[in-house]
Amino acid sequence: MIIILKPDTPEDGPEVREVLRQVGRFPSLSARTCAIEGSSRAVVEIYLIGPTAQVPEQTFAELPGVERVVRVSQKYRLLGSHAADLESMGFEHNGVRFDQETLHVFAGLCAVDTPAHVDQTMAALGKAGLRTTRMGAFKPRTSPYEFQGLGATCLPWVFDSAGKHGLRVIAMEITHEDQLDEIRAALAKTGAPVGVMLQIGTRNAQNFELLKLVGQQRDFPVLFKRGMGITLEESLNACEYIASEGNRNIVFCLRGVKTHLGDPHRNFVDFSHVPVVRRLTRMPVCVDPSHSVGRRDRGPEGLLDIFHATAQGVIAGCNMILVDIHPAPAAALCDGPQALLMEELPRFLEDVAIVREAYERRVTAVRRNR
Ligand code: PEP
Ligand code: MN
Repeated sequence: MIIILKPDTPEDGPEVREVLRQVGRFPSLSARTCAIEGSSRAVVEIYLIGPTAQVPEQTFAELPGVERVVRVSQKYRLLGSHAADLESMGFEHNGVRFDQETLHVFAGLCAVDTPAHVDQTMAALGKAGLRTTRMGAFKPRTSPYEFQGLGATCLPWVFDSAGKHGLRVIAMEITHEDQLDEIRAALAKTGAPVGVMLQIGTRNAQNFELLKLVGQQRDFPVLFKRGMGITLEESLNACEYIASEGNRNIVFCLRGVKTHLGDPHRNFVDFSHVPVVRRLTRMPVCVDPSHSVGRRDRGPEGLLDIFHATAQGVIAGCNMILVDIHPAPAAALCDGPQALLMEELPRFLEDVAIVREAYERRVTAVRRNR
């Protein structure tokens, strides 16, 4: 059960205290209070945990400051939309807003290699007006003999370069709790010139201890990449592991699923799930066309398959795009064959803008005819 307070009701005010006092009358229930910054308004939600089936809604619905009471389904208790027109789970990180309405392009290096490549990339992104990027320092590779990422040593110069070129948020994968401390230390050392969104890669989609760890902290939002070989439901439940520890600032990323039915693409592109995740949950949804497609082939009209896959995500209303780009893909230490070239960035962004406009026109048309 979720008790939604009227907008602008303070999280620590008398209305919330009264709800919690009433919850106290049911010994088997506990409550968790959460301030949600939705796309249109900020509200406080109180989640009742425990057997609520026998708890009458009126107990709470008639209290001062309560807007409504929603019975939640068993599935996706914290992140679900529960068919109840709940606020999307938006958040702001280092001045950048994320919710089910916004769209951000996180272009950058799959794996950080040299300071020159990082700086060249950041400069081009800044010049193109982007405020968000991706940079991999800790790389979980399929083979132990492949490049594993530069690790903590590169963090200070990556963060400095981002700050210098006006980037505000970096998506960065972590695979182990020590790396969270290393990121914190490097941010402290450099004066936090940029924000970090912690990425959970597909290989760790069911690493429940890591999920709980990123859920227990509130300093960094989390970009969760769906498991490549598990169902969508299992991936969404994995996000509940993060949320149930307290951190609800989560973006859900589609990155393709592993099957040879997707050949010749690296993974089977699953961006038709964008509206599904936006409907079932309140999370912003990201697509990763680079790891889905995995190659630089192009259609007969001249557009890269990566552009086409991106367009599929954008036309369906995605909120974030994670895309690999590299100044010298042949020299990249990871995933060079799927990286966009620097000179392709303006065309890529133009293509995204064209498709986003088409998406917005579709939304206007459907709302008009509803
Ligand atoms: C990545 O984004 O660098 C990555 C390794 O992706 P995934 O976890 O989706 O394979
Ligand atoms: Mn990669």
